[in-house]
Amino acid sequence: MRKHIVGNWKMNGSVALLREVLDQVRDEAFAADVSVCVPFPYLSEVQQRLSSSQIKVGAQDVSEYDDGAYTGEVSARMLKDVGSRLAIVGHSERRRYFGESDAAVASKLARLLEVGLYGIYCVGETLAERDAGRAEARIEAQLAPLHALLARGATASQFCIAYEPVWAIGTGRAASGEQVAVMHEFIKRCLGPAFAVLYGGSVKAGNASALLTLPGVDGVLVGGASLDAKEFSGICRAAGC
Ligand code: PEP
Repeated sequence: MRKHIVGNWKMNGSVALLREVLDQVRDEAFAADVSVCVPFPYLSEVQQRLSSSQIKVGAQDVSEYDDGAYTGEVSARMLKDVGSRLAIVGHSERRRYFGESDAAVASKLARLLEVGLYGIYCVGETLAERDAGRAEARIEAQLAPLHALLARGATASQFCIAYEPVWAIGTGRAASGEQVAVMHEFIKRCLGPAFAVLYGGSVKAGNASALLTLPGVDGVLVGGASLDAKEFSGICRAAGC
Protein backbone atom coordinates (compact mmCIF):
# COMPACT_ATOMS: atom_id res chain seq x y z
CA MET A 1 0.00 0.00 0.00
CA ARG A 2 1.29 3.50 -0.84
CA LYS A 3 2.30 5.50 2.22
CA HIS A 4 0.63 8.85 2.98
CA ILE A 5 2.94 11.79 3.56
CA VAL A 6 1.14 14.87 4.86
CA GLY A 7 2.78 18.24 5.43
CA ASN A 8 1.25 20.48 8.10
CA TRP A 9 2.40 24.06 7.66
CA LYS A 10 0.63 25.19 10.86
CA MET A 11 0.34 29.01 11.08
CA ASN A 12 3.53 29.53 9.06
CA GLY A 13 4.44 30.63 5.59
CA SER A 14 3.60 33.27 3.04
CA VAL A 15 2.69 33.35 -0.64
CA ALA A 16 6.41 33.71 -1.41
CA LEU A 17 7.38 30.69 0.71
CA LEU A 18 4.67 28.45 -0.65
CA ARG A 19 5.73 29.28 -4.22
CA GLU A 20 9.35 28.55 -3.34
CA VAL A 21 8.62 25.20 -1.66
CA LEU A 22 5.92 23.94 -4.02
CA ASP A 23 7.84 24.84 -7.17
CA GLN A 24 10.63 22.54 -6.00
CA VAL A 25 8.46 19.52 -5.17
CA ARG A 26 5.37 19.66 -7.39
CA ASP A 27 6.83 17.87 -10.42
CA GLU A 28 8.55 15.05 -8.54
CA ALA A 29 7.05 11.58 -9.10
CA PHE A 30 6.88 10.27 -5.53
CA ALA A 31 5.97 6.64 -4.84
CA ALA A 32 3.68 7.88 -2.04
CA ASP A 33 0.44 9.86 -1.67
CA VAL A 34 1.61 13.35 -0.77
CA SER A 35 -0.53 16.21 0.60
CA VAL A 36 0.17 19.63 2.05
CA CYS A 37 -2.15 21.22 4.62
CA VAL A 38 -1.79 24.99 4.53
CA PRO A 39 -3.45 27.94 6.30
CA PHE A 40 -6.93 28.79 4.94
CA PRO A 41 -5.94 31.96 3.04
CA TYR A 42 -3.45 30.00 0.91
CA LEU A 43 -5.70 27.10 -0.11
CA SER A 44 -6.73 28.53 -3.49
CA GLU A 45 -3.22 29.63 -4.42
CA VAL A 46 -1.79 26.22 -3.51
CA GLN A 47 -4.59 24.41 -5.33
CA GLN A 48 -3.81 26.39 -8.50
CA ARG A 49 -0.07 25.80 -8.20
CA LEU A 50 -0.61 22.06 -7.72
CA SER A 51 -3.28 21.63 -10.40
CA SER A 52 -0.98 19.53 -12.61
CA SER A 53 0.80 17.82 -9.68
CA GLN A 54 0.02 14.57 -7.84
CA ILE A 55 0.33 16.49 -4.56
CA LYS A 56 -3.03 17.25 -2.94
CA VAL A 57 -3.96 20.33 -0.96
CA GLY A 58 -5.65 20.18 2.42
CA ALA A 59 -6.69 22.35 5.38
CA GLN A 60 -5.61 22.16 9.01
CA ASP A 61 -9.05 22.46 10.57
CA VAL A 62 -12.75 22.82 9.72
CA SER A 63 -15.85 24.05 11.48
CA GLU A 64 -17.98 21.54 13.33
CA TYR A 65 -21.03 23.44 11.96
CA ASP A 66 -22.62 23.67 8.53
CA ASP A 67 -22.74 27.04 6.70
CA GLY A 68 -24.51 29.77 8.66
CA ALA A 69 -24.10 32.52 11.25
CA TYR A 70 -20.79 31.35 12.76
CA THR A 71 -18.43 34.31 12.36
CA GLY A 72 -14.83 33.34 11.71
CA GLU A 73 -15.58 29.71 10.91
CA VAL A 74 -14.80 27.84 7.68
CA SER A 75 -17.15 25.05 6.63
CA ALA A 76 -16.32 21.71 5.02
CA ARG A 77 -18.33 22.77 1.98
CA MET A 78 -16.13 25.86 1.58
CA LEU A 79 -12.96 23.79 1.80
CA LYS A 80 -14.26 21.56 -0.97
CA ASP A 81 -15.36 24.61 -2.99
CA VAL A 82 -11.78 25.95 -3.14
CA GLY A 83 -10.29 22.59 -4.12
CA SER A 84 -9.22 21.02 -0.82
CA ARG A 85 -9.21 17.25 -0.84
CA LEU A 86 -8.65 16.66 2.87
CA ALA A 87 -8.31 18.29 6.28
CA ILE A 88 -6.61 17.62 9.59
CA VAL A 89 -8.88 17.66 12.66
CA GLY A 90 -8.03 17.59 16.35
CA HIS A 91 -4.35 18.46 16.11
CA SER A 92 -3.00 18.61 19.67
CA GLU A 93 -2.32 22.35 19.24
CA ARG A 94 -6.04 22.87 18.60
CA ARG A 95 -6.99 20.70 21.54
CA ARG A 96 -4.51 22.51 23.80
CA TYR A 97 -4.84 26.17 22.76
CA PHE A 98 -8.46 26.20 21.60
CA GLY A 99 -9.97 23.71 24.02
CA GLU A 100 -11.31 21.33 21.38
CA SER A 101 -12.97 18.30 22.96
CA ASP A 102 -12.96 14.77 21.58
CA ALA A 103 -16.67 15.14 20.73
CA ALA A 104 -16.11 18.45 18.86
CA VAL A 105 -13.26 16.92 16.88
CA ALA A 106 -15.41 13.94 15.93
CA SER A 107 -18.15 16.38 14.75
CA LYS A 108 -15.56 18.11 12.56
CA LEU A 109 -14.63 14.78 11.04
CA ALA A 110 -18.31 14.04 10.39
CA ARG A 111 -18.69 17.37 8.51
CA LEU A 112 -15.72 16.45 6.27
CA LEU A 113 -17.10 13.02 5.45
CA GLU A 114 -20.53 14.47 4.63
CA VAL A 115 -19.04 16.54 1.78
CA GLY A 116 -16.64 13.83 0.61
CA LEU A 117 -13.38 15.23 2.00
CA TYR A 118 -10.79 12.89 3.52
CA GLY A 119 -10.14 13.39 7.23
CA ILE A 120 -6.98 13.03 9.29
CA TYR A 121 -8.07 12.59 12.92
CA CYS A 122 -5.22 13.35 15.32
CA VAL A 123 -4.71 11.67 18.67
CA GLY A 124 -1.81 11.70 21.11
CA GLU A 125 -0.92 11.58 24.77
CA THR A 126 1.06 14.09 26.82
CA LEU A 127 4.31 13.13 28.52
CA ALA A 128 2.58 13.20 31.92
CA GLU A 129 -0.04 10.74 30.64
CA ARG A 130 2.64 8.44 29.23
CA ASP A 131 4.72 8.62 32.43
CA ALA A 132 1.62 7.76 34.45
CA GLY A 133 1.01 4.66 32.29
CA ARG A 134 -2.14 6.23 30.83
CA ALA A 135 -1.09 6.65 27.18
CA GLU A 136 -3.32 3.91 25.77
CA ALA A 137 -6.29 4.97 27.91
CA ARG A 138 -5.94 8.54 26.59
CA ILE A 139 -5.81 7.38 22.97
CA GLU A 140 -8.78 5.07 23.51
CA ALA A 141 -10.80 8.00 24.92
CA GLN A 142 -9.88 10.17 21.91
CA LEU A 143 -10.97 7.41 19.54
CA ALA A 144 -14.21 6.65 21.42
CA PRO A 145 -16.46 9.21 19.63
CA LEU A 146 -15.50 7.66 16.29
CA HIS A 147 -17.47 4.51 17.03
CA ALA A 148 -20.72 6.39 16.43
CA LEU A 149 -19.43 7.45 13.01
CA LEU A 150 -18.42 3.88 12.19
CA ALA A 151 -21.87 2.68 13.26
CA ARG A 152 -23.34 5.18 10.76
CA GLY A 153 -21.27 3.62 7.95
CA ALA A 154 -17.98 5.61 7.90
CA THR A 155 -15.14 3.53 6.47
CA ALA A 156 -11.36 3.40 6.37
CA SER A 157 -11.40 4.88 2.86
CA GLN A 158 -12.80 8.14 4.27
CA PHE A 159 -10.39 8.95 7.08
CA CYS A 160 -7.21 7.91 8.85
CA ILE A 161 -5.71 8.45 12.28
CA ALA A 162 -2.54 10.45 12.96
CA TYR A 163 -0.83 9.28 16.14
CA GLU A 164 1.13 12.28 17.38
CA PRO A 165 2.51 12.03 20.91
CA VAL A 166 2.32 15.62 22.18
CA TRP A 167 5.84 15.42 23.64
CA ALA A 168 7.29 14.56 20.20
CA ILE A 169 5.76 17.47 18.29
CA GLY A 170 8.24 20.20 17.43
CA THR A 171 10.70 18.97 20.06
CA GLY A 172 13.22 17.18 17.83
CA ARG A 173 12.55 14.06 19.92
CA ALA A 174 10.61 11.53 17.84
CA ALA A 175 9.00 8.58 19.64
CA SER A 176 11.05 5.37 19.59
CA GLY A 177 10.32 2.68 17.03
CA GLU A 178 8.89 0.47 19.76
CA GLN A 179 6.60 3.21 21.14
CA VAL A 180 5.30 3.92 17.65
CA ALA A 181 4.76 0.26 16.67
CA VAL A 182 2.95 -0.53 19.96
CA MET A 183 0.59 2.44 19.69
CA HIS A 184 -0.19 1.94 16.00
CA GLU A 185 -1.08 -1.67 16.71
CA PHE A 186 -3.28 -0.53 19.60
CA ILE A 187 -5.12 2.00 17.39
CA LYS A 188 -5.72 -0.59 14.66
CA ARG A 189 -7.05 -2.94 17.34
CA CYS A 190 -9.48 -0.24 18.54
CA LEU A 191 -10.79 0.75 15.08
CA GLY A 192 -10.03 -2.19 12.80
CA PRO A 193 -6.97 -3.24 10.81
CA ALA A 194 -8.11 -1.47 7.63
CA PHE A 195 -7.59 1.98 9.18
CA ALA A 196 -4.41 3.76 8.11
CA VAL A 197 -2.41 5.20 11.00
CA LEU A 198 0.14 7.95 10.36
CA TYR A 199 2.89 8.86 12.82
CA GLY A 200 3.66 12.52 13.59
CA GLY A 201 6.28 14.11 15.83
CA SER A 202 9.71 15.40 14.75
CA VAL A 203 9.81 13.50 11.45
CA LYS A 204 12.74 14.62 9.30
CA ALA A 205 14.40 13.34 6.12
CA GLY A 206 16.98 11.64 8.35
CA ASN A 207 14.56 9.50 10.41
CA ALA A 208 11.69 9.09 7.91
CA SER A 209 12.83 5.80 6.44
CA ALA A 210 13.22 4.16 9.89
CA LEU A 211 9.75 5.36 10.95
CA LEU A 212 8.02 4.49 7.68
CA THR A 213 9.27 0.91 7.71
CA LEU A 214 7.93 0.17 11.21
CA PRO A 215 5.00 -2.27 11.38
CA GLY A 216 1.64 -0.50 11.31
CA VAL A 217 3.01 2.83 10.07
CA ASP A 218 1.04 3.83 6.97
CA GLY A 219 2.55 7.28 6.59
CA VAL A 220 3.71 10.37 8.44
CA LEU A 221 2.35 13.79 9.38
CA VAL A 222 5.15 16.32 9.12
CA GLY A 223 5.17 19.76 10.76
CA GLY A 224 8.35 21.85 10.72
CA ALA A 225 10.17 19.82 8.06
CA SER A 226 7.34 20.36 5.54
CA LEU A 227 8.34 24.04 5.26
CA ASP A 228 11.70 23.07 3.78
CA ALA A 229 11.55 21.69 0.22
CA LYS A 230 14.71 19.60 0.57
CA GLU A 231 13.61 18.03 3.88
CA PHE A 232 10.05 17.44 2.70
CA SER A 233 11.05 15.83 -0.59
CA GLY A 234 13.59 13.70 1.31
CA ILE A 235 10.75 12.40 3.50
CA CYS A 236 8.52 11.76 0.47
CA ARG A 237 11.33 9.87 -1.26
CA ALA A 238 11.93 7.77 1.88
CA ALA A 239 8.32 6.60 1.56
CA GLY A 240 9.17 4.89 -1.70
CA CYS A 241 11.53 2.46 -0.02
C1 PEP B 1 2.74 18.40 13.52
O1 PEP B 1 2.59 19.60 13.50
O2 PEP B 1 1.78 17.67 13.31
C2 PEP B 1 4.08 17.86 13.78
C3 PEP B 1 4.21 16.56 13.85
O3 PEP B 1 5.10 18.75 13.95
P1 PEP B 1 6.69 18.44 13.88
O4 PEP B 1 6.92 17.54 12.68
O5 PEP B 1 7.32 19.77 13.70
O6 PEP B 1 7.06 17.76 15.14
